[in-house]
Amino acid sequence: MRLFAATIATETNTFSPLPTSLAAYRESVFLRPGEHPDDTPLMCTAPLWVARRRAKKEGFTLIEGSCFAASPAGTTNRADYEFMRDEILGQLKAAMPVDGVLLGLHGAMVAHGYDDVEGDVIERVRAIVGPKAVIGVELDPHCHLTLKRVKLADIIVLYKEFPHTDVVERAEDVLNLVLRKLRGEINPVTSLYDCRQIQSYPTTLPLMRAFVDRMIAMEGKNGVLSISIGHCFPYADVPELTGRILVITDGDKKKADRLATEIGEEFVSMRGKTMPQYYGVDEGIGVAMESNVAPVVMADPADNAGGGAPSDNTTILRRLIERRAEETLVGPIWDPIAVRLCFDAGPGAEFALRFGGKIGPTSGQPIDATVKVVGLKRDCRQSFGPTQVPLGDCAAIKVGGVNVVLISNRTQALGLELFENVGLDPRAAKMVVVKSTNHFMAAFGPIAKKVLYIDSDGPLSRDYRQIPYRRLQRPIYPLDDKTSPGLIA
Ligand SMILES: [Zn+2]
Repeated sequence: MRLFAATIATETNTFSPLPTSLAAYRESVFLRPGEHPDDTPLMCTAPLWVARRRAKKEGFTLIEGSCFAASPAGTTNRADYEFMRDEILGQLKAAMPVDGVLLGLHGAMVAHGYDDVEGDVIERVRAIVGPKAVIGVELDPHCHLTLKRVKLADIIVLYKEFPHTDVVERAEDVLNLVLRKLRGEINPVTSLYDCRQIQSYPTTLPLMRAFVDRMIAMEGKNGVLSISIGHCFPYADVPELTGRILVITDGDKKKADRLATEIGEEFVSMRGKTMPQYYGVDEGIGVAMESNVAPVVMADPADNAGGGAPSDNTTILRRLIERRAEETLVGPIWDPIAVRLCFDAGPGAEFALRFGGKIGPTSGQPIDATVKVVGLKRDCRQSFGPTQVPLGDCAAIKVGGVNVVLISNRTQALGLELFENVGLDPRAAKMVVVKSTNHFMAAFGPIAKKVLYIDSDGPLSRDYRQIPYRRLQRPIYPLDDKTSPGLIA
């Protein structure tokens, strides 16, 4: 048995002011066959990593293709996408004949000329391997679960957790289902229900937690092979942006239809109930300053680099400085130039620095202040579950009672190391502001005495009615009052 595995992935915010080129992939994941590290999967590479570990034991040969992944930002350069795609397709052709293909994709990648990159990749892979080969795909729940990909792939499994702490487990699911189909043990059939809604669904909140736990309990019983909940990725102007439910059963299409409909209808009934409470900037700061427990962790989801934002919006930071907040940490602010200036100034230096507020109108204005350099470290990392996420060179600066971590490799707040690398202890702080939607909860949730979500004026508004969609299929909640959810495949 011969399986081929590869990755091409990013999460594209088509409204982001940061275009994505090959340079962004080179900074993140740019690995040729055999170069993938053994110790840990990287962004969206878990199918290859899992298959490599199991190949010998399970009696199949793994042919490794390239792995390309970039941090979320704007639309990918067309020629660069085609270069990466064609490299992988060339490797697949050279590997033929194969019995199966494992694709580690994100699911919300857009390139100039390609609204549905993953659909394009799967279609071209299918054309090479033929109808009998089994194509298994792992996607992020913040994906566009398009009809094209559901029709052309045999197995699609989405992560269930948000924060995404189950990337490896879901890759195991993909591999298990692909192997079982190849061994003739199962006959996967798929149903897809379109909920016609845009929303955010952290699984750390009780309603969504219970919903996901019930899906997990249904899998592996009574012919139910897999249930995936497509959250959607709200910051892309593509037609098929919507929440969708994907059910795979063993040979029973009616059952898949019935279950997808039941789950889909329940998901529709959860509209407006799955998001946390969002505070205004001053309101949230006020609540945190008056808190008698510490640390209070405050999220700034509107400037989450994980959703393609620059992560240099200064609005919350400026108000904290103006309101003379004490023992407060803020991070990360992506500003490689300011990091460079801090290294030039040196540890302990006090100097006038302009930082943040640079990339676009949604970044706010830069902050000009006399800062003290309190921490410097080159080539930093933070952990997120089993993966290590590079931060680049980092500097910690202090303005009054507010400590700010400046980073040079744009990413969201994920691990405590974001602060610890540069000598700051988030456990000992009164307030900790993290730029992240919900992934921060994996590491910061356990140390937080209170968590507040603040809706700043960063580019990822939590009010989806404010997003200037032009190509999105309508009607859809919450943009339209009346919608028509239903089974579409
Ligand atoms: Zn995601």
